[in-house]
Amino acid sequence: MVDLVPPHTLLSKAALSLDRPAMQPGTYFIQTWGCQMNEEDSEQMALHLEDLGFRPITDLFTAQVVILNTCSVRKKPEDKAFSLLGELIPLKRANPEMILGVCGCMAQARADEIHRRAPHVDFVLGTGDLGLLPNLVTEAAQRKKFQKRVALPERKGRVVEDVPQRHLGRPQKLKAFVPIQYGCDKFCTYCIVPTTRGRERSRPTQDILDEVRALADNGTKEISLLGQTVNSYGKNLLEGRVPFSELLWKIAEIDGIERIRYTSPYPKDFKRDLIETIRDCPKVMEHVHMPLQSGDNEVLRAMKRAYTREQFFDLVDELRGTIPNVSLTTDMIVGFPGETDEQFENSVDAMDRVRFDGAYMFAYSIRPGTPAGDAENQIAEDVKKARLRRMMDRQDDVTREINLAQHGREVEVMVEGVSIRNPDRLQGFSREWKMVHFAGSAERTGRLARVRVTDSKVWGFEGELV
Ligand code: SF4
Repeated sequence: MVDLVPPHTLLSKAALSLDRPAMQPGTYFIQTWGCQMNEEDSEQMALHLEDLGFRPITDLFTAQVVILNTCSVRKKPEDKAFSLLGELIPLKRANPEMILGVCGCMAQARADEIHRRAPHVDFVLGTGDLGLLPNLVTEAAQRKKFQKRVALPERKGRVVEDVPQRHLGRPQKLKAFVPIQYGCDKFCTYCIVPTTRGRERSRPTQDILDEVRALADNGTKEISLLGQTVNSYGKNLLEGRVPFSELLWKIAEIDGIERIRYTSPYPKDFKRDLIETIRDCPKVMEHVHMPLQSGDNEVLRAMKRAYTREQFFDLVDELRGTIPNVSLTTDMIVGFPGETDEQFENSVDAMDRVRFDGAYMFAYSIRPGTPAGDAENQIAEDVKKARLRRMMDRQDDVTREINLAQHGREVEVMVEGVSIRNPDRLQGFSREWKMVHFAGSAERTGRLARVRVTDSKVWGFEGELV
């Protein structure tokens, strides 16, 4: 399952008032919802638009090219996208040169509906090939008469070479996402991803290494490898099977890269070689984000997750028994169709048993077209909300307790710069993926620092330089 990040801040409706500045020709704005894969796709789209001569601006309502990069994992981001499309109607009427595109998972799954409900959209581009974006934008800019376009590149099933071409001209940055795998073969019954992103395809190893090398040459020090089930990487490659653990070792050989993360592994595909690689490869961080989703075996079966709670516990024990100081985070869904009070309590019990460092917890969201979305035994919204609240409160307590136990420990931090919460402090993440704040000079940005934990919060640690 993808882990979710908050959508970028939407601009207020006030921006549509009459005294707002006019459209700025040659500019673009991309609104992104959803997972890190979408964030990464938005970066790729930005590079394509910049190749065409467009420059980014921060005001969606004055940009010439507006792209909504959508998410279909839950209902809320889809509602937000449709609501924003409604807000953009008067703007599009007032500025015929404005170019409005909808991309991402919702575009892939609901193209016809988007054009029906939002006929002012110039083009809909699915997740299959972002390289089509320059053509779509150029066509929209050149044509005299409005004409809708839909680009949903045909999916070729298991064809191993069916992976999008990457634009490698990235801006310099300390941390970068690198997709290693597209689509998913697991078909969990609640999930729309196999429909919107297609079947699982791994990127050729050499392409990944070339991209990481280019990033390292440009100053990147931390790489996050992305895939829906990253640890099944490498199954159908033309070059032959390349286990995920082997890919990690190859990336670790690249000079300049100091840290490697990955998200998200699938529990059943977590094998011994990977666990030993996390322990033995100094550049691989000791953080494992492993979605459990439910702590009840019947619900797990209904979700079509291919493990039991007992198997998950065994894996947790093996990880903790092998990797010193490993931190574990997870994804949980409450209110899956038919989930009883007792089954929900089994989830809370499983979380108590594992004691995750943190968790992304969600109320089940109906996704039409999925087996769970079509089920009749849906749980009432107020029940889902109450269960979610209870689970979140419990997890906050556990996170607080775990972090409290770290007082006095020394952690390694990749310094990202001045803290967003407190401009007098620096911030960065530890190897266990805990946010750390501490006093120090901004010149340390981009370097590793040793920090002693002096205080703990739910969000991470306060510390002091060692
Ligand atoms: S189908 Fe299952 S494993 Fe695949 S992306 Fe969806 S939740 Fe994750």
